[in-house]
Amino acid sequence: MATGQRVYLDYQATTPVDPRVLEAMLPYFTLQYGNAASVQHEFGRTAAEAVETARERVARLVGARAQEIVFTSGATESNNLALKGLATREEGPRRIVTSPTEHKSVLDVLASLRLQGFEIVELPVDSMGRVGLHDLETALRTPTLVVSIMAANNEIGTLAPLEEIGRLCRAANSLFHCDATQWAGKLPLEVATTCIDLLSMSAHKMYGPKGVGALYVRREVQSRMKPLLDGGGHERGLRSGTLNVPACVGMGVACEIAEASMVADADRLRRLSRLFLGDIEAGIPDVAVNGHPDERIPGNLNLHFPHVNAEDLMLIVPDVAVSSGSACSAASPEPSHVLRAIGLSYEQAECCVRVGVGRFTSEADVHYAAQRLIEGVALVRGITAGRPTEKVRV
Ligand code: PMP
Repeated sequence: MATGQRVYLDYQATTPVDPRVLEAMLPYFTLQYGNAASVQHEFGRTAAEAVETARERVARLVGARAQEIVFTSGATESNNLALKGLATREEGPRRIVTSPTEHKSVLDVLASLRLQGFEIVELPVDSMGRVGLHDLETALRTPTLVVSIMAANNEIGTLAPLEEIGRLCRAANSLFHCDATQWAGKLPLEVATTCIDLLSMSAHKMYGPKGVGALYVRREVQSRMKPLLDGGGHERGLRSGTLNVPACVGMGVACEIAEASMVADADRLRRLSRLFLGDIEAGIPDVAVNGHPDERIPGNLNLHFPHVNAEDLMLIVPDVAVSSGSACSAASPEPSHVLRAIGLSYEQAECCVRVGVGRFTSEADVHYAAQRLIEGVALVRGITAGRPTEKVRV
């Protein structure tokens, strides 16, 4: 590491704030610091207008109406609000259908609803991480309050067939909640054509600031929800609390940029991923790619290096930021629940890394990172030759 170079390839964990986003946010920290609810004076009205512009931009990204967007603190809160908000108020069936590869902010909410008497049905996924449409159709023969299935998986990148899932939900009279945190801003998305009733998003996955997100709630569904936070009745009564105006502005601009540059960005990221994978395959012939080969988030790869413990690899190559699991489960010592659900053994799951390129990754970055990982894999294999490499489960 004589060059002192560092390469960030963890864009599914978070993204840097785009300089255009930061620039748009700055005045709302210093000059335009009004409370967006204080519409009796100019300061408040300016803040409120900025929030409404941001709301329109977020709505446009997913083909929604501005009144259907609720600002939250991020996708974790959006997922909590969507599912607990419905479960608390709804008098419909106490049954929810989901998949085992959801983010923990869905799975853990559902675990707590299970304790409250909800039936939680987890459909199996195939080796790419997709639920079977036939399984979903069968599950929906029993009346179901809501189906919660993510748009794109944050670890293996696999995209879900949203239109088909949405159609089945609508036909069965069940609501469809979609955690689109990893899809929104990267690929086109229309809530109407996908029959999505509730959709979670987060700004920091699309070059916006951390700590702000949104939940789309279809207008007709809003009255069926109960807020998580009681208070001043902000956000159409669904999320009380003074809005973080600079963050909302940032999310709005991030959505606007994403909408304009999505197609070109996606092409570029796919190309960078292919370059990276080409280098890796040349240096590590037994590498395997987890997840769907094509139907995946542009720029995402999840790689299995047989017999190379990912934590060891990351220690040996500290100048390349990749991930051995999702950042949100980083507190858990268990290997990824997603990799286990697609059929990898405990030991195999410990030998996988997620590599995510993004808007600010260069070609030089991917070549450098691939070279460093090839050296790292050889080193780990050399050090551990003749010994079991995977950590033993105790
Ligand atoms: N869902 C998915 C699919 C995610 O990738 C993440 C972030 N890792 C979240 C939800 C949580 O988002 P936030 O960090 O905004 O709470």
